[in-house]
Amino acid sequence: MAGPLAGDPYGAFVRTGPGKFLAARTGLPRPPRLRRYEEGQDLLTGPALVTGLSGAAHVDAVRDALRAAGADLDVGTGPLGALVVDASGLRTVDQLGELLATAPDFKRTRGRVLVLSAVPPEVGDPEARAVQQGLEGFVRSLGKEARGGTTVNLLRVADGTTTSLRSAVQFFCSARSAYVDGQPLVVGPGEPQPVRDQRVAVVTGAAQGIGAATAEVLARTGHHVVCVDIAASGEKLAAVANRVGGSTLHLDVTADSAPRTLAEHLAGRFEGADVVVHNAGITRDRSFVNLDEAAWGSVLAVNLGAPVRLTTALLDHPGALAPGARFVCLSSMNGIAGAKGQTNYATSKAGLIGLVQALAGPLSERGFAVNAVAPGFIETPMTAAMPPVPRELGRRTSSLQQGGLPVDVAETIGWLAQPDAAGVDGQVLRVCGQNLLGA
Ligand code: NAD
Repeated sequence: MAGPLAGDPYGAFVRTGPGKFLAARTGLPRPPRLRRYEEGQDLLTGPALVTGLSGAAHVDAVRDALRAAGADLDVGTGPLGALVVDASGLRTVDQLGELLATAPDFKRTRGRVLVLSAVPPEVGDPEARAVQQGLEGFVRSLGKEARGGTTVNLLRVADGTTTSLRSAVQFFCSARSAYVDGQPLVVGPGEPQPVRDQRVAVVTGAAQGIGAATAEVLARTGHHVVCVDIAASGEKLAAVANRVGGSTLHLDVTADSAPRTLAEHLAGRFEGADVVVHNAGITRDRSFVNLDEAAWGSVLAVNLGAPVRLTTALLDHPGALAPGARFVCLSSMNGIAGAKGQTNYATSKAGLIGLVQALAGPLSERGFAVNAVAPGFIETPMTAAMPPVPRELGRRTSSLQQGGLPVDVAETIGWLAQPDAAGVDGQVLRVCGQNLLGA
């Protein structure tokens, strides 16, 4: 959906004739129209150029991945839909200068720029490690210079990675990653489990916002979705479940009985879940000195306590999880950067990152993977309730100069849930349009 900027009157205004004129004359932000996933669309809006710098190891694999997704690699001299620069073989400070030669290609790219690096600790000697880490600064800066909705991201490719590299290249070069910008991500060699005939996903907080969009994306990608929310969301939850051909489970994720109820439901009715999305979340914003126990306790219980308890129960309960199951936790940019009035919320969201990092190793031994997505400013009822000035600042302080849509977060979760993304594990991926906060 290329779509209007939902709930963003300024963003809509600057796309009108008078709005464009005014913004051009005054230097006000002009948020670009983002290209989002639509059924049957081409991967890219133009051909893809794959460039290998010294020692590049992945050029053929990237070309194969792009070709398999229907991209045209015959670049000609016109605009490029994607530019992929394999810098993973650079080892010396002098070699970093090779990046300069890609500037003309960057200039003609309208869509996606992807830089490939090694995983710095894997390269050994200090200069090589410094050089590979340097690529992060390069990518983050280039993201801030890109125009017209072009995004720039960094894939750190671990030794021996094949399937997940293909999957990551296809995701980051597609319209599904429209709001992922300026981010590094490690992809490793994990291999997918055999895919079941009927995959099952459970999404908590599925009645609206990001959870509802996630249910839609997971249904589109072949999952029966168990839509979980509190009983008070009954009608909205039923509407989502009907729309996606899924089922409902009324559950307060903080209830004492919730972990057992969910585990028994998944084991008894579905032979386990392939995907678990811990999305239910709340805010109770106020300054630390004004926080009472209820505002602290409820936020910590829903946002962090419930994912901890539910995950433990699902891991312990025989049959609650299918082989190769994926967990995705909804963290937040504010859990990384902190936010005034959100000590409770940021504690819970940073805690989720700790949970992901703690579980990744032990879970991968069982063939599971766990990751977090950290949304920036997303247009949902949660952000619609913000006071006008912080809301407007939240939208504009990103490279893409606009809030994301729930579907942007959902597409990222949908990718992490895919069997062939098995090598992405223990990661935190921001979906924030390269928001300046905590970047
Ligand atoms: P939302 O308020 O629109 O929806 C949250 C859903 O969770 C609601 O349907 C609600 O009923 C449900 N829920 C709340 N408490 C529950 C409980 N105890 N048991 C079961 N369900 C419960 O929120 P959203 O904006 O779609 O956000 C979804 C997730 O993304 C949250 O975890 C949020 O913290 C995170 N997030 C959102 C943004 C944003 O900009 N909207 C940014 C960063 C992170």
